Amino acid sequence: MTTNPEILLIEDDDQIRRFLRPTLAAENYRLHEAVTAAEGVAQAAARQPDLVLLDLGLPDGDGLTVIGSIREWSSMPILVISARGQERDKIAALDAGADDYIAKPFATGELLARIRAALRRSARVGAQVSAVFRAGPIEVDFEKRLVVVSGVETHLTPIEFKLLQTVVRYAGRVVTQRQLLNEVWGPNHVEQSQYLRVYMGQLRRKLEADPARPQYLRTEPGVGYRFVVD
Ligand code: CA
Repeated sequence: MTTNPEILLIEDDDQIRRFLRPTLAAENYRLHEAVTAAEGVAQAAARQPDLVLLDLGLPDGDGLTVIGSIREWSSMPILVISARGQERDKIAALDAGADDYIAKPFATGELLARIRAALRRSARVGAQVSAVFRAGPIEVDFEKRLVVVSGVETHLTPIEFKLLQTVVRYAGRVVTQRQLLNEVWGPNHVEQSQYLRVYMGQLRRKLEADPARPQYLRTEPGVGYRFVVD
């Protein structure tokens, strides 16, 4: 028997807290609430929730400091609730170690899907990870460095493979341009977003049925990329 996941909501907006209470209860999540950054960090430490839902604009400071504090000692999933159109905030939150973000105003179904995805990913961490990754027609064997699309072996260059490996490692969550550039090309190339456009285009042509409308290698406008798994 697994117990119902605990979620810590750090949000000063009454209306959003009132809306989320019944929504999360209906999914059998156990909810804890904090309305300030300081209280949020304290509760995260005391309760060790399965997931944190974090608003960035808090009365006593920036949600980014909450992410920084939690990441000093925990890899618990942090899902940021941010106001729409604030791309810089989203990127800063992801670079600080948040797992994902959802823009306000959000649809309930979308929020719940993101929560489930984040909980699934954290459940996988530490579990035996298979060397073969599958998503639709795409199969990646990391040990053999082999990529098969609809049953046909597809040759990737070393950079293409590394890029695919990185987005797949974060499958389901958004990865910022900076994170990808850092992991694939190294810390001296984090500003070279044109590399990403070129190589992502090549990967899409090799992996996607319709590279102009990618089903798996999606662009998150202004932020980065997401390998969509569900
Ligand atoms: Ca707020």
